[in-house]
Amino acid sequence: MLPSAVMQQAQDELLDWQGQGCSVMELSHRNPVYIALAEQAEQDLRRLLAVPDNYQVLFLQGGGRGQFAAVPLNLQGKDNGPSAGKQTPAIADYICAGYWAQSAADEARKYLNVNQTGELVQTDAGLAVSSPDTWQLSSNPRYVHYCSNETIEGIRLAGLPKFDAPLVADMSSDILSGPINVADYGVIYASAQKNIGPSGLAIAIVRNDLLDQAPETVPSFIHYHTQAQKQSMYNTPPTYAWYLAGLVFKWLLQQGGLSAIAEHNQAKANVLYQCIDDNDFYRNGIADANRSLMNVPFQLADAKLDAVFLQEAEAHGLKALKGHRAVGGMRASIYNAMPLAGVQALVSFMQDFARRYG
Ligand SMILES: *Cc1c(COP(=O)(O)O)cnc(C)c1O
Repeated sequence: MLPSAVMQQAQDELLDWQGQGCSVMELSHRNPVYIALAEQAEQDLRRLLAVPDNYQVLFLQGGGRGQFAAVPLNLQGKDNGPSAGKQTPAIADYICAGYWAQSAADEARKYLNVNQTGELVQTDAGLAVSSPDTWQLSSNPRYVHYCSNETIEGIRLAGLPKFDAPLVADMSSDILSGPINVADYGVIYASAQKNIGPSGLAIAIVRNDLLDQAPETVPSFIHYHTQAQKQSMYNTPPTYAWYLAGLVFKWLLQQGGLSAIAEHNQAKANVLYQCIDDNDFYRNGIADANRSLMNVPFQLADAKLDAVFLQEAEAHGLKALKGHRAVGGMRASIYNAMPLAGVQALVSFMQDFARRYG
């Protein structure tokens, strides 16, 4: 969901944006007033994440999966591949603890050698990401890739060790959910549609020395260096999604920035996990340290009640609770824009449902 204040503002200025006599949608991306809007959005995002000066912030098309290809293509090294006369392809390490990291690794394998490591293991504390001591990293990878929040399984990977190679993170489902230290990363990318704005936009934050590590064959529209040189306007960017993302950035700043948002997110997640843990009718088998603050999967004691649960929830205005088909059960996504009251409404429904069917 998007913040209702943002949706309201978008509605108010839909037909006439700031006295222009037309919608933002109808403005050319070359129009100086649109460029000013786009630059302001970038500045606000930089402020929220405290992005250091030696990083470029790119607003791109192609979503998360676009970046699954863009990352290996851009970071493979100029001399990678047989066409450049190199016999041994470049190698990259992929830490895989869920569906999205695995999908990123599978895409990268088209362009370079992938060394895949990491897994989900059953521990006394529940399902957890295997300890970094057990990861088999290669000696000189181009980069190390991971996904900070596995959206489908509800798994968070935090507190990674430091690597010599640049760290690349898919933050599609937890970007802007709390402060991060951008300087720890070589590349951060995210599709916008989970925690930023509408679909159609991907954001990539790229350290300057990694902009131009690609052979000439890389498509220009996903070439980081080309896009950075053109202020993300080598081709027409998704202008309306960029505008809405800008409104969300402003909203986040008004909420007090990412520390305040992080506290709010923690409070929301606590309420929901507490309800699940306190009630035998529900179960989330994930170890505390890996529990996602954004996506909370849970199973009912009797899976035969799943359909009834979803139907009654829908009738209470509690939407999109069906778990991904890969894991089944339920999943509550409680991104930044979800208010605490929304989580409380879910919890009281869950308690009532358990009383009636438990
Ligand atoms: C949703 C998601 C993606 C895929 O994004 P698309 O824009 O649909 O390609 C990638 N990574 C993560 C972590 C996601 O949650």
